[in-house]
Amino acid sequence: MSRSQPIRAARGMRDILPEQRALWRRVEMAGEAAASSYGYEEIEVPIIEPAALIERVGGDTDVVRKEIYRLQGHGDASGEREGLLALRPEATAGVVRAYFQGGLNQLSQPVRLTTTGPMFRHDRPQAGRYRQFYQFDLEVIGDPSPAYDAEVIEVSRQWLSSLGLSGVSLVLNSIGDGRCRPAYLQKLREYYRPLKRRLHHDCQRRLEANPLRLLDCKEEQCQPFKAAAPRITDHLCQPCAEAFAEVRSLLDLAAIEYRLDAHLVRGLDYYTRTVFEFEHAALGGAQNALGGGGRYDGLAAALGYPDTPAVGFAGGIDRVVLGLPESNGDGPAQLWVLPVERGLEAEAARVGRLCRAELPAVVDFSRRSLSAKMRAAGRAGSRWVAIMAADEAQRQAVQLRDMRSGDQREVPWDQLAVVIAGSLSS
Ligand code: AMP
Repeated sequence: MSRSQPIRAARGMRDILPEQRALWRRVEMAGEAAASSYGYEEIEVPIIEPAALIERVGGDTDVVRKEIYRLQGHGDASGEREGLLALRPEATAGVVRAYFQGGLNQLSQPVRLTTTGPMFRHDRPQAGRYRQFYQFDLEVIGDPSPAYDAEVIEVSRQWLSSLGLSGVSLVLNSIGDGRCRPAYLQKLREYYRPLKRRLHHDCQRRLEANPLRLLDCKEEQCQPFKAAAPRITDHLCQPCAEAFAEVRSLLDLAAIEYRLDAHLVRGLDYYTRTVFEFEHAALGGAQNALGGGGRYDGLAAALGYPDTPAVGFAGGIDRVVLGLPESNGDGPAQLWVLPVERGLEAEAARVGRLCRAELPAVVDFSRRSLSAKMRAAGRAGSRWVAIMAADEAQRQAVQLRDMRSGDQREVPWDQLAVVIAGSLSS
């Protein structure tokens, strides 16, 4: 690469700059608040996992075939090789691994867990789809009751509604389990086989390997055939039908609205029964899902652990940030300390320290003019500025100016926090 060529972020990777990061933080905090108010405890799992963990979970899916970032592990001094590693494309597999490896399966069940962090998928980048993106995750592991499905839906909805998102709708389906799904999949194949040549080439391949995925295909040419396809909800076995009825009745009792959609699926064998997704009207296109989840009673066994029922949710923080309403507040009240001349750095720093008892304070140590400093404070949305020339510094005072009202008066340093707190509460 030529030396004059500035280095930019890798394709599909992006920076979350401070203005955006503040929105991000709001979304994360809303997640933490919703999860902890329902008794979910935080867990952190590695970003790097053995590739086998991810591959075992993915089966023959697009995620595993195309989207996994694989890393070659290094050998250590003993000559032991780490084997192939992968950047996690989602958190669930790691959380389930940690649940067993960390002995959480020995605690009173179920265990309610939450985590937030970056996920990696090597997909074609586009609006709302990034190679590094962030998810807010909920998992309830160790109990088959449909009441936990309803609870996970309720917590994730609480997260979205506490952020003031409007135009969000909940879509619900059941995809049965190992007892009823195989017979249904056979019916689905029989329906689609005569249509095979008219399907998109990916769907032609899915027809035998993973026919459920035909139902959520977004390709134009496959759409006309979906409406008449057999519906899984007409083919549920008795226990699955009862579980689905219970989830629906619990949602009704909690006044949570939803739309049934027999085309909402997960194309992996270990998913069972409930699947749900939150859509956002304004995001549009194929990228309108804010998050989704469902029951995955077969996952633990797929990873080599004892059969263990579980249900979870993964919300896309990037997309939730895109859908946030315009900020209505003016952010945290802030104070800028503006020394008027050089040589007052220590005094200005001290004023900043005194005020931080009450609110975030920024000290402008630059050499620009006072009016330039005032403009910068204004642009930053600062509520107050504390202007200090040498004679004020000598009296241990500043000119405190309320940028909102334009009022300005001299205030001694040791009374600044009290004066600001007084006007904050008035
Ligand atoms: P999934 O794990 O595929 O069910 O995704 C759950 C949620 O994560 C989706 O509803 C999206 O909001 C978000 N998401 C998934 N993949 C991406 C991506 N590549 N870029 C941004 N957000 C994503």
